Amino acid sequence: MTDPRAAVAAVVDPEIRVVTIDELGILRSVDEDAATGRVVVTITPTYTGCPAMDVIRADIRRALAAAGHPDAEVRTVYAPAWSTDWISEGGRAKLAAAGIAPPAPVRGGSVVPLTLAVRCPRCGSPETEQVSRFGSTACKALWRCRSCSEPFDHLKAL
Ligand SMILES: [Zn+2]
Repeated sequence: MTDPRAAVAAVVDPEIRVVTIDELGILRSVDEDAATGRVVVTITPTYTGCPAMDVIRADIRRALAAAGHPDAEVRTVYAPAWSTDWISEGGRAKLAAAGIAPPAPVRGGSVVPLTLAVRCPRCGSPETEQVSRFGSTACKALWRCRSCSEPFDHLKAL
């Protein structure tokens, strides 16, 4: 049997396939029930209603089944709420390399106006504007760079 934590941490986000759920901070914990040996995974959605969460749950169960844990349980917790601060440094770098602008860290639990912080992932210019609230998926918004005219996806932040 493979280490269940390693198996789950390798699951990629179904919408942003360059990063794992571990790097995005969606994965909270992987525990093994001492009595039953059953694996219990806890995840927190990036934002309420993100349709990708159903896919993520299925992918986690599939990864654990392949690792020898077919009866795993996936729990979803909403508190504390996921924040962009939970994206790892490595995750941010991968998002930037894929042309997805990582959301700016939210400080003090309050929502910072992201319009001031979105930089073009292509040229780095802060001269960007939101084109549409919905990008290629429900979890992303479509933005455009005013410097190089490049459209890009920006992860929605809470
Ligand atoms: Zn640009």
